[in-house]
Amino acid sequence: MSSESTYTTAQLQALDTAHYLHPFTDHKDLGERGTRIIERAEGVYLWDSEGRQILDAMAGLWCVNIGYGRRELAEAAFKQMIELPYYNSFFQCANPPAVKLAAAIAELAPPHMNHVFFTGSGSEANDTVLRMVRRYWDLKGKPGKKTIIGRINGYHGSTVAAASLGGMAPMHAQGDLPIPGIVHIAQPYWFEEGGDMTPDEFGIWAARQLEEKIRELGEDKVAAFIAEPIQGAGGVIVPPATYWPEIKRILSEHDILLVVDEVICGFGRTGEWFGSQYFDLQPDLMPIAKGMTSGYLPMGGVIVGDRVARTLIDEGGEFFHGYTYSGHPVAAAVALENLRILRDEKIVDYVKNEAAPYLQKKIAELADHRLVGEVRGVGLLGAIELVKNKATRERFAEKGSTGSLCRDICVSNGLVMRAVGDTMIMSPPLVISIAEIDELVAKIRLCLDLTAEQLGV
Ligand code: PMP
Repeated sequence: MSSESTYTTAQLQALDTAHYLHPFTDHKDLGERGTRIIERAEGVYLWDSEGRQILDAMAGLWCVNIGYGRRELAEAAFKQMIELPYYNSFFQCANPPAVKLAAAIAELAPPHMNHVFFTGSGSEANDTVLRMVRRYWDLKGKPGKKTIIGRINGYHGSTVAAASLGGMAPMHAQGDLPIPGIVHIAQPYWFEEGGDMTPDEFGIWAARQLEEKIRELGEDKVAAFIAEPIQGAGGVIVPPATYWPEIKRILSEHDILLVVDEVICGFGRTGEWFGSQYFDLQPDLMPIAKGMTSGYLPMGGVIVGDRVARTLIDEGGEFFHGYTYSGHPVAAAVALENLRILRDEKIVDYVKNEAAPYLQKKIAELADHRLVGEVRGVGLLGAIELVKNKATRERFAEKGSTGSLCRDICVSNGLVMRAVGDTMIMSPPLVISIAEIDELVAKIRLCLDLTAEQLGV
């Protein structure tokens, strides 16, 4: 029992099992294993209710970009709660933090993107995307352009529209998804699906799936293409170098909107403010969340390019869409303070010039490990593919079991990494120091050794 808590770990676990339905969780399994209660955090470290220190190589859920324990954000929230804890942005109203935040985000976004619609999460941002895209084409007098093309194994959230835009088969299987008007093409995942092609050949092949889908559906039916710059939840899938240039070529030949989901890549993750800047993309819409507040409060949004914004504003009249918490003043005040810290402490530059080159160099050295088939990454995103045979990319027998084993070994050794199938992924806080990167990589190597030992290889 910790000093602040009146509950023991066992009591919290019992209450959890009795009452708490968790996201993406098999509750029977959780009940048997027991929930890990995370009690506090500082910098890149978490402490659980048993006092164990854990290096958080996932920045929570890809979101705690400035690291844990920044009092300035707590103070910004406190001050704003006293001043104005809530007011809506409907009915001709706004609040100062929301207005300032919209302007601050427009300043950071690519030059042709100057407006922001606020939401409570990344999923709501993608629901907004669906509605905005269809509204745009209606206003352009092309109501037939409704279909949005997403990608298999893409992730855009868990509401009905967001889960439909994503291409996660297990999600689609629960609840008759996707909803009509959303289709999916292949992902640019060379390691898993590239076969005998070189990564560059495969990148072109995967991009051309978009061209084929547009041809199949007819351009007059296609509203938009949505993609993450780098698939996050799908397994930190960095597309081959040929992929985005070919997608850009295809889009330049068709009148289709580009939606780049920046929920993970936004706010410094790649060493640029947005993944779109890293890959030189010109999106029409960019859903954002996570790093926007560093996860200290829930908030998301859609950054809207001039083409769509001008149409909605000049030709649209009222757009019947919005949320009670759109532009929430406390979340906006926290986001503003988070952006100030990212900017004043030059954290995005630190990622680009120091942390990312160092992390990528150090994890690349793990490629010599007998379990590792590939190491890849961009910025402070990384992935390690676990295989039985390095040359053929063959996996161990039961798909996903090696990843789960390795993940459990990581946690037992004070490290949070996530497993997606047999891919180990990381996305540490952007403020991770060079010494902490050394500690992270040493822990990963130890856990790979322990995993190999357990597998008997
Ligand atoms: N888009 C992407 C790319 C994401 O990774 C996520 C969340 N992991 C979402 C959207 C959904 O965000 P939220 O969980 O805040 O609804």
